[in-house]
Amino acid sequence: MMIKTTVQQQVDWLAQFGLTEDGGVTRLLYTAEWQQAQQALRTRMEQGGLTTDIDAVGNVFGRIEGTQTDDIILTGSHVDTVVNGGKLDGAYGVIASIVAVTELLEEHGRPKKTLEVVSLCEEEGSRFPLTFWGSRSVVGQYNLAHMDGVIDQHGIPLHVARAACGIDGVPTVRRVNRFVELHIEQGQVLERKQKDIGVVTHIVGQRRYTITIRGESNHAGTTPMPYRQDALVAAATCIARFTEEANAFDDTLVATTGQMHISPNVPNVIANDVKFTLDVRHYDEATIIAYCEKIFSALAEIAAQHGVTYGIEQWLDVAPVAMDAHVNEWVKTYLQQHDISYEEMVSGAGHDAQVFGEVVPTTLLFVPSKDGISHSPKEYTAAEQLQTGIDVLKAVLYQLAY
Ligand SMILES: [Zn+2]
Repeated sequence: MMIKTTVQQQVDWLAQFGLTEDGGVTRLLYTAEWQQAQQALRTRMEQGGLTTDIDAVGNVFGRIEGTQTDDIILTGSHVDTVVNGGKLDGAYGVIASIVAVTELLEEHGRPKKTLEVVSLCEEEGSRFPLTFWGSRSVVGQYNLAHMDGVIDQHGIPLHVARAACGIDGVPTVRRVNRFVELHIEQGQVLERKQKDIGVVTHIVGQRRYTITIRGESNHAGTTPMPYRQDALVAAATCIARFTEEANAFDDTLVATTGQMHISPNVPNVIANDVKFTLDVRHYDEATIIAYCEKIFSALAEIAAQHGVTYGIEQWLDVAPVAMDAHVNEWVKTYLQQHDISYEEMVSGAGHDAQVFGEVVPTTLLFVPSKDGISHSPKEYTAAEQLQTGIDVLKAVLYQLAY
């Protein structure tokens, strides 16, 4: 029998593993803090009556065998954090899944379908540049070969760090029939609309590009305006135009330029080479394609007007993923019946749910984030809202497994 503690106590308990001076958490893959957290979670799962195991990459699972079928409903989130991140990102979903499943076992006995909780590793890619290392290994998209040549910022190879934790073996595909994740929103929509639960319909697709504009460097004083091939003016015109098109295109499409390199980057010289990034996100792939076609034809026009040449390099292409609409309908009815306010929404950030959502029916639910802040020690959700999230998760798991 577990001693009942509040959600806030549990969040603070898990945050002790990697707690930073300013109240944040740094819990990077295969570090001592990470190992301690996974071990402590495993113990907690066992105290709750679950049978546990750790797989070949370090994901920790806790299981209650179903009485009728061997269908597996998996629920959980990630235990790793960014550097000096918050106490809730990922961790809240792990805690919530353990609380929900152990309480269900206590109150209703064994489910018809198998329930598994999971504490996933390296969702963020904060120590090693392998985002979703844990979840992608479970579904078979990553294997041992993906570890080759992967090092952290101190030059430590991934396989060395893994072995140092006593984790070994070959990742194998694990059978999962359904995935349910509870997570903080990491945005301001729920708070602004004063809603307690976000019912996620899609996780956005993303494309990222680097666009290079080439003009000609010349003297800022002696080159009359009509004679210029100014790469920076052309780039600035493009960014303004891309933003205008994004505003006009669709309510939910977002386009961002967050990085720019200007050459030679000197105050009195016209720039001859400018590189800038473009990040485009939407829940519908066709919309992303249509937007990109439109702005790239605008780019051709602008380049011609300014007498510059250009190149487009795409380096990220992630397809949008739809969450299980059928379960969402059930969730919305449940929330209405229990007078819990909610908002149907698209997730603009990536989550383990998108990895599972590509292969099995998946559900993603959000609780509000104060001021939308995340990846920061200031990450905060009121205790009552955290509890509401767990209540809803528990209801969903009961509906699916019992
Ligand atoms: Zn997260």
